[in-house]
Amino acid sequence: MPPLYSHSRLSCFENCPKQFHYRYVLKLPAESESIEAFLGKRVHEVLERLQQFADRGLVPSLAKVVSRFRVNWEERYDPSRVRIVRQENDDKFYLDIGERCLDRFYRQHYPFDADETLGLEQHVRFDLDAERGYRLRGIIDRLVRARDGAIEIHDYKTSQRIPSQKRLDADRQLALYQLAVAREYPERPFRLVWHYLVFGATRVSTRSAEQLERLRSDVMDLIGRIEREEEYPARPSPLCGWCEYGERCPASGRTRAASPAPPPSQPAQRSLL
Ligand code: SF4
Repeated sequence: MPPLYSHSRLSCFENCPKQFHYRYVLKLPAESESIEAFLGKRVHEVLERLQQFADRGLVPSLAKVVSRFRVNWEERYDPSRVRIVRQENDDKFYLDIGERCLDRFYRQHYPFDADETLGLEQHVRFDLDAERGYRLRGIIDRLVRARDGAIEIHDYKTSQRIPSQKRLDADRQLALYQLAVAREYPERPFRLVWHYLVFGATRVSTRSAEQLERLRSDVMDLIGRIEREEEYPARPSPLCGWCEYGERCPASGRTRAASPAPPPSQPAQRSLL
């Protein structure tokens, strides 16, 4: 059975083939999780729950939403597993960011009835090329029917910067989701919508049929490259600090086996004797 690809699987290969090898070929369990990923998961799960209640006409208070976030955080936060790369910050710093994200989102969207939810954390799978067996999967944070009838693919981001509109207009992830659900909603205009929660900012983009076809073709080329890869070279970069295999990967500079610096009385050159 050919593997199911996803946007994160494709990005992983593009960023570092070695990380791809650890994660998807050797299937090594993650040794740690960045606090940014941990924060994103905690915010996503609370927003999903909030929308579930709101869609049933039971909008919880902001205090309850924030309290749920804190409880989930406390229950799941394991300092031995969650890694803080930016040492100038502590876990409280990230907890505060999460609370601010929820506070802003809640105040902007209350009472959450501006549109219709079609799916929450909706899993999608589709054939990119049935002949070659290239299949993709993904999870849409929220699928929406807007008041004007357009179908919107919403994505929640807890990142601390907003990409340029040019980058969003070339973004792959939500466009792939559009390919995945387009057949269910023929003749409907689509919008791709990002919520940059830290800033309370929303960004929107659309794709033409030609752009979607080009995307399909580019992704098939990329999958072809992945399937031909045999070496999986390491590609060290500042992202190594966030890599869950950093303590195993010799290219990261933070392997467990790395020798501590020798004391001054034993200069490093001694080991060459
Ligand atoms: S630590 Fe860096 S070079 Fe090594 S696998 Fe991770 S991202 Fe790649």
